[in-house]
Amino acid sequence: MGTLAAKTFAQSEWHETARRAPAPRCQDGAMADCTHVAEIRDVTPSTTEGCEDCLAVGGRWVHLRECLTCGHVGCCDSSPAKHASAHYATTEHPVIRSFEPGEDWRWCYVDQEIV
Ligand SMILES: [Zn+2]
Ligand SMILES: [Zn+2]
Ligand SMILES: [Zn+2]
Repeated sequence: MGTLAAKTFAQSEWHETARRAPAPRCQDGAMADCTHVAEIRDVTPSTTEGCEDCLAVGGRWVHLRECLTCGHVGCCDSSPAKHASAHYATTEHPVIRSFEPGEDWRWCYVDQEIV
C-alpha cells in the first residue's frame, strides 16, 4: 500500500484497487439551517385554557402548540381540527413550540424540522 504513490497509473489493476468510495461530507450542518428561528419573539400565549380555536367552537384537542410569532395557542395534528397547522396555513407564522408541560421543542413548518 505504501509504495502506491511511487507507481504510475499504467497498471489499471492498481487503479481499480485504489478506487475510493465518495466520502459523505457536511451532512451534520444541513439539519440546522432554519432561518425562521430568528423571527421568534418573546410571545405571551393567547390563552392557557387550551386551543383557542377549539374553545371558541366547543371542540376537543389532543396536544397544544404555541405560535412563537404571535402567541396563538392551537391544537396539534393529532387533534381533529389541527388548529396549529391551520394557523400556519393562514398566517405563515413559521415556528411553533410545544405547549405541553415538560415538553421543550420547537417545530418549523417551513423547514419541516425540529429547530
Ligand atoms: Zn425554518
Ligand atoms: Zn383546536
Ligand atoms: Zn401566529
